[in-house]
Amino acid sequence: MNGDNTFDFIIVGAGSAGCVLANRLSADRRFTVLLIEAGKVSHPLTPVPMSYSKLIVNPKVNWCYASEPEPMMAERSIPVPRGRLLGGSSAINGLVYVRGQPMDYDAWAQLGNRGWSFDDILPIFQRIENYESGADEWRRQGGPLHISEVTDQNPLYDALLGAGEEVGLPNNPDYNGADQMGICRTQTTIRDGRRISTAVAYLAPARSRPNLEIVTDALVHRLTLEGKRCTGISYSVGGRPVDVQARTEVIVCCGTINSPQLLELSGIGQPALLESHGIEVRHALPGVGESLRDHIAPRMGWTVSERGVTFNDRARGLGLLWQVIRYAIRKDGFLSLPSAPLLAFIKTRADLESPDAQLHLVPYTFSPTKRQLLDEPGMTITVYQLRPESLGSIHIKSADPSEAPAIRFSFLSDPLDRQTLVDAIRFARHLMQAAAMDRFRGIEFKPGSDVQSDADIIEWIGKTAETAYHPVGTCRMGSDDNAVVNDQLLVHGIEGLRIADGSIMPTLISGNTNAACIMIGEKAADMVLAEHR
Ligand SMILES: Cc1cc2nc3c(=O)[nH]c(=O)nc-3n(C[C@H](O)[C@H](O)[C@H](O)COP(=O)(O)OP(=O)(O)OC[C@H]3O[C@@H](n4cnc5c(N)ncnc54)[C@H](O)[C@@H]3O)c2cc1C
Repeated sequence: MNGDNTFDFIIVGAGSAGCVLANRLSADRRFTVLLIEAGKVSHPLTPVPMSYSKLIVNPKVNWCYASEPEPMMAERSIPVPRGRLLGGSSAINGLVYVRGQPMDYDAWAQLGNRGWSFDDILPIFQRIENYESGADEWRRQGGPLHISEVTDQNPLYDALLGAGEEVGLPNNPDYNGADQMGICRTQTTIRDGRRISTAVAYLAPARSRPNLEIVTDALVHRLTLEGKRCTGISYSVGGRPVDVQARTEVIVCCGTINSPQLLELSGIGQPALLESHGIEVRHALPGVGESLRDHIAPRMGWTVSERGVTFNDRARGLGLLWQVIRYAIRKDGFLSLPSAPLLAFIKTRADLESPDAQLHLVPYTFSPTKRQLLDEPGMTITVYQLRPESLGSIHIKSADPSEAPAIRFSFLSDPLDRQTLVDAIRFARHLMQAAAMDRFRGIEFKPGSDVQSDADIIEWIGKTAETAYHPVGTCRMGSDDNAVVNDQLLVHGIEGLRIADGSIMPTLISGNTNAACIMIGEKAADMVLAEHR
């Protein structure tokens, strides 16, 4: 820690966006940068892609939150894993790389956010990536984040790709290119069989810079405010309280769950809510914690009739031992895979301009409670609506920074969300009925062939579904009364305070959210440097 505890920039949270900012801002040696992270430096399993299935429930690297009982989900509490280590959720996630659709970002711009249209942010996505399959009009090589395509071979993948062709779903060689529609091999944040989190891609190359200080195991309790200016933060490390000052800006990158929590703990938010927890209101901002969206993601299951194809057969018992040896020697096989080796982007209605649902095609079945492969060979199709309308909220339950906030998704509250999910599930069934799947198709056991009517399908989703772990929106960008940050990501009405992470997304993008969070980190760095250089 430098002598006077003062830095030019303080970044709170070393996740997907925070690590990007730490790298980009400290690249200018005139600035001193402090990066504060509540979690640890790393975990031995993090580099192994398949470790996400274990880290998803590991409190050593995961906040392991859970929602309040969800009214439309059989009053269930839905698990909300979030990374708590350098790299944040990018260090425990499923490694699937999806940019989303151009219209996602055009919609953000259309809502009044200048500089966020797809044309504006395409160069940012391009400079992020080192796309293994080569550069073209859409893609680039040479960026810090390595992106590879799944190369694992399996006759089940060939059958699924063939089934796609049969049902009018073309094999798309690059869903992050000209068109998202189609069935495809997954692009991943994996290099040579190892996870590329933002801690690896962005922080590792910057760690030895003398102007970048990284403090881990440090929970930030609140932002310090002088009038309407943010001047620093208070955190604790090893039970010891520490105050640090920011000469220029504090940039909050705590993610969709913790960024609104930190604002509320600091007296920024809905006055009545803050007062009910005995927190002095420093700045009334009604949108803090509102506009939460996520992808609710029912997981369908089929048995597979041919033995030796699925990882239920190939990665249990001695098979698992072989996969471990194979990974140790060749860095391939089961342990090198992302959460889904194939994806499909589909239209649930023919009249749609672009896909409105995503399928994750997985060559095994898994017990979510025991976190292990099922005995019988099977396959999973996870289904979600790309742009849900249902809106929830996240608010503190107490003034104690170590207490989890109340997460309320309100899943399935919008009729369009219910209908799109039902139609996407029917599409997945249609795909599985294609002749190309005859050799492998066993019995649909989730939800099961007796679950046919819209009402029965919705009831099954409510009783069983978890999320795809893509919460966004709780510090929404915009210029209306409920927006939290403006299009420069500055908190409305407060000086010296920016937010850059998934929480600023005005709407949920059409896909997995890591790429968009990294892009937000890059764009925020551009804004900060343009303003303060
Ligand atoms: C299990 C799982 C699987 C996923 N799978 C995929 C996938 O396959 N593909 C994909 O694109 N996306 C996936 N995602 C989503 C994606 O990883 C996230 O959207 C993205 O990483 C979020 O980035 P962020 O910068 O908003 O926040 P995060 O990366 O979550 O970073 C926030 C950081 O802030 C720290 N922090 C929070 N509060 C404090 C505090 N008070 N003091 C100090 N530090 C604090 C946290 O510990 C964390 O390190 C997945 C997410 C999870 C959890």
